[in-house]
Amino acid sequence: MSVIDDRLLENLRRWRRDLHRRPELSFEEHETTAYIRRQLDEWDVPYSRPLPTGAVAHLRGRRPGPVVVVRCDIDGLPIQEETKCEFASMVPDRMHACGHDAHTAVALGLIALLTGLRDQIYGEVRVLFQPAEETLPSGAEALIKTGALDGARAVVGLHVLSDLDVGAISLRDGPIMASDDRFTVHVQGAGGHGAHPHQTVDALLIASTLVGELHTLLGRRISALQPAVLSIGTFHAGTAYNIIPGSADLSGTVRTFDEDVRVRIRDGILALSTHHARAHGAEAKVEYVYGTPPVVNHPPLVELLRPAAEAVVGPAHVLRRPPRMGGEDFAFYGRVAPSVFAHVGARNPAIGADFPHHHPRFSIDERCLEIGLGFLLEAVRRCSWTPDALASIPRAAPPA
Ligand SMILES: [Zn+2]
Ligand SMILES: [Zn+2]
Repeated sequence: MSVIDDRLLENLRRWRRDLHRRPELSFEEHETTAYIRRQLDEWDVPYSRPLPTGAVAHLRGRRPGPVVVVRCDIDGLPIQEETKCEFASMVPDRMHACGHDAHTAVALGLIALLTGLRDQIYGEVRVLFQPAEETLPSGAEALIKTGALDGARAVVGLHVLSDLDVGAISLRDGPIMASDDRFTVHVQGAGGHGAHPHQTVDALLIASTLVGELHTLLGRRISALQPAVLSIGTFHAGTAYNIIPGSADLSGTVRTFDEDVRVRIRDGILALSTHHARAHGAEAKVEYVYGTPPVVNHPPLVELLRPAAEAVVGPAHVLRRPPRMGGEDFAFYGRVAPSVFAHVGARNPAIGADFPHHHPRFSIDERCLEIGLGFLLEAVRRCSWTPDALASIPRAAPPA
């Protein structure tokens, strides 16, 4: 950690706080991108801009070697911040409530360090400032389509976590985060007077009983040993107390780690919605949108990088936390090249840094910045400091 001096630490905090004050939504990160570019220009680091927002920085060594990709995400959320911190968001209804400001600061810190270590690099360290992690379709997919990952031999990323103690890193092989799919159901019946329900096809009643039916899918169609979540998040029907609505709409999300389970739940939603509505004389239209796949950490790459985490926080603080049902578009990179996604602890209840992500009072213990940067630097050292460090890592990405 010695290369991370006090000045760099001060900069890490400053970058993070500057970005925290000016959060921007997915694919609208124009000011954020300008901020990143100013830094890259100052350091004379070449970069490309394959999308309207975000950037891809290229740190090329003088000798041939692998392309190692480090990814950070840069977008904020449509939330009104309720923390009282001095660098709270200055933009109404916009907040860095997931920690992507910290990720961006850490990535800038990595570049700052690597500009002084270029002679050590074999091949290229490519740093992705990825827009739009928080939306579907996501920035990762868009960036991959532009060729930003071409030639990548390994991809490394991290996420700070407000439910993991600061000072810990969780690094686990295999699936660590769930797929994140979205579905909507439109039930079309026939409305009418609340006094004469027999003359109507009550879309509200049909849709509300469907909500219960959909929840039986997990308990009765999917093995109890296969983790999966189905949640209904919206339900809209009706305009007045004495009118039976002719239509109703609901939407929800499906989370799982297994492609087969994912398909079976999707098919179940389609069949159950259609037949349930028909049984009551209505019609159901279902739209199922495949979102992000599960994040699957490549086991040999995890083995290579575990010592990187241990070097920063000590072996006792490198954990293997259970997989999480949250989604993360880093998953798409794992389909292109071997990838590792680390969770970096940012929790500290003593300073109120234990609210969940996407909460108006979300915050982090900024010591996670140094730890995150330390991990990325150690990871890059293990991948790029010799020409053949990745020779033993199979190229094939693991099946998602
Ligand atoms: Zn988030
Ligand atoms: Zn996030």
